[in-house]
Amino acid sequence: MHELALATAVVDEVAPLAGPDPVRAVTLRIGELAAVVPEALDLAFTVAAEGTALAGATLLIETVEGRARCDGCGRESLTGMPPVLWCDACALPLVLLSGRELEIVRLVTDPPGPAPAPGTDPDTEHSISGR
Ligand SMILES: [Zn+2]
Repeated sequence: MHELALATAVVDEVAPLAGPDPVRAVTLRIGELAAVVPEALDLAFTVAAEGTALAGATLLIETVEGRARCDGCGRESLTGMPPVLWCDACALPLVLLSGRELEIVRLVTDPPGPAPAPGTDPDTEHSISGR
């Protein structure tokens, strides 16, 4: 099952970053073309997180719309789902700009770690590759 494999990968990536503190929430950014069903991922995450630092954590999902650009006329459009990947004006294939994201963008632990030094981003930015 795709979502369970993904959820397991998220848990494996995040658990070492969290250190000894329990994780309260994990935010993922997922493109609408990444073929991930949020409800299934949420369920899979609950299963995968059991017995780890992520047990009981909330999974937050930010959806990214699929966007594509035509190199012929320069027009940008939403691809929709399933995606339309050619230009209806010039019939050229479109270049995909976004929509295949699969990234861990935020991690909230409890208690929050020590205050970050001024000028630094308190969020843990992190990405996983592949699907
Ligand atoms: Zn065009």
